[in-house]
Amino acid sequence: MQLLRPESLASATASLGNGSVPLAGGTELVPLLRSQLVDAETLVDVRGVVPRGVDGTRIGAGTTLAELETDGEIPQALREACALASSPQLRAMGTIGGNLLQATRCWYWRLKYPCFLHGGSRCHARQGAHREHAIFGNERCASAHPSDPAAALLALGATLRTDRRELPVAELYRLPTEDDRDVVALEPGELILELDVPQPEASTYLKAMDRNRFSFALVGVAAARVGGGETRLALSGAAPIPWLLGSADELDRATPLPGTAYKVDLARPLIRRALEALA
Ligand SMILES: Cc1cc2nc3c(=O)[nH]c(=O)nc-3n(C[C@H](O)[C@H](O)[C@H](O)COP(=O)(O)OP(=O)(O)OC[C@H]3O[C@@H](n4cnc5c(N)ncnc54)[C@H](O)[C@@H]3O)c2cc1C
Ligand code: SF4
Repeated sequence: MQLLRPESLASATASLGNGSVPLAGGTELVPLLRSQLVDAETLVDVRGVVPRGVDGTRIGAGTTLAELETDGEIPQALREACALASSPQLRAMGTIGGNLLQATRCWYWRLKYPCFLHGGSRCHARQGAHREHAIFGNERCASAHPSDPAAALLALGATLRTDRRELPVAELYRLPTEDDRDVVALEPGELILELDVPQPEASTYLKAMDRNRFSFALVGVAAARVGGGETRLALSGAAPIPWLLGSADELDRATPLPGTAYKVDLARPLIRRALEALA
């Protein structure tokens, strides 16, 4: 395997695609390479060329979660989501760009079962062990998206700038279909460069976990009150992608599996507490 350390963005983007993969903190990519869940001939270390740091509403995709959790300029929901993610060591290495693109933690997928997300015909989790899995959007793949910051960014109405375009965070994700099993809508070799995160009037992120620290979300709730009295809610750990919720009542339309029905009961009080915090 080859490791490239390009000195300019142009040279990084020219090196991507055709079996090469961007590497940021490596906290997700390196384990995936080791388990042969990602196959790459070349790693392109993008840390020297992807922006890092906070400038008003702009956040470089190379900013670490540790930097975001302590930055007073960042909306509270995003700070709290970063602070509640993974462990201090991982947050010191892991970038926000890499966090948004992390793969599912579904153990069937990680153990390379030939499931729907791997291109097969069935979801093994539906009939198998699925306590941590989804309550929305789970018809074909019942995995639960693991990113806490992604839910916060969705509620905050953030947009992304890549080396090719601008797109709302909501459009970064898609449910997998028969024709395309990916949950991310980036083109091959497309680099996330920056996020634009508008300041809300108020925002918060609450997370239910098996332990108080270093645990993926069973359910995470991000709430943001934006201009004009509008409040947006988004969930992590609830669907194969970060899930925007029109209102708390939409929980009545959840489609839990037998082992995930408890997540609906977990989400209700979290949403109520999040809305109370905004008020
Ligand atoms: C044990 C463990 C527990 C964790 N717990 C949580 C948790 O509770 N909550 C949570 O939200 N996260 C959690 N995470 C995920 C962690 O936050 C991510 O691994 C980390 O943020 C990824 O960032 P990175 O810079 O290391 O990405 P990398 O590992 O370098 O890359 C991840 C992916 O993103 C791609 N990539 C990276 N940067 C870019 C870019 N700028 N443009 C395009 N593609 C890019 C890579 O090619 C790769 O596919 C956990 C991870 C581990 C290992
Ligand atoms: S939940 Fe998704 S990733 Fe897990 S077994 Fe089902 S199809 Fe595969």
